[in-house]
Amino acid sequence: MAMPREDSANMSRRIFAAQATVGLAALAPLLTTSDEAKAAEKPMLGSSLQGPGHVVCVGAHPDDPEEGCGGTLARYAELGHRVTNIYLTRGEAGIAGKSHEEAAAIRTAEAEAACKILGAKAVFAGQIDAATELNSARARSFQELLSVEAPDIVLTHWPIDVHPDHQVAAMLTIRAYLACKRRFQLYFYEVCTGVETIGFYPSLYVDITATREKKRQALFLHTGEKLERFYEKYDRFTEEFRGRESGVFVAEAFVAAARNLRSADSSTLPGL
Ligand SMILES: [Zn+2]
Repeated sequence: MAMPREDSANMSRRIFAAQATVGLAALAPLLTTSDEAKAAEKPMLGSSLQGPGHVVCVGAHPDDPEEGCGGTLARYAELGHRVTNIYLTRGEAGIAGKSHEEAAAIRTAEAEAACKILGAKAVFAGQIDAATELNSARARSFQELLSVEAPDIVLTHWPIDVHPDHQVAAMLTIRAYLACKRRFQLYFYEVCTGVETIGFYPSLYVDITATREKKRQALFLHTGEKLERFYEKYDRFTEEFRGRESGVFVAEAFVAAARNLRSADSSTLPGL
């Protein structure tokens, strides 16, 4: 149905007024220093991590947070920030010849020991290795789990990855990030780029020279010698390459889900 000209003009004015209001609301923290503006800003202030904050790393399996950003997590913990690793699964399908229950028990203990080395707490999200699900119910329960943790910063898998469980962990985190109206800063990490992670072009780097040994200790707790060989074949070179890219010895690299205008240094993660 065609709209009368006058109504159309009124509608245009109303739309313009609404857009102007939205635009001003977005700029409000820049335009005023009132207490209301400061209060409105508060949920995001943790993103700069000037004081102790909460850093949550989401990984599909025990060993993913350690492999992708163990050095970064150790640095945050050493600086006095709270660090939590959320493991989507307990690695049930990860040990040949073991039942799901046996493998889960072993890998849960390994994840907890690794977290102890990194200065982190281990949380398990209750999905099953190699059978992870992405649907509304799973998205809701993951969002609830993450909101209980009330993170300032969340690190998760880069979503383009050959492993379906890594894809699910990334998408659940993205869904939670959008559902809570981006109350935390979201960053993506890589896991063995070229073999698992694909199309990852980072712009943020964390120098892990001082915490690399802790990362290796935490990582090598998982499934023993096999993972150590995997690290020597792939991850060592990724760390060294990211180090060369960023002008340090070894580094971990990240992609930001959105620009963090409150971060003083745009080349690394907040607080580091
Ligand atoms: Zn994994």
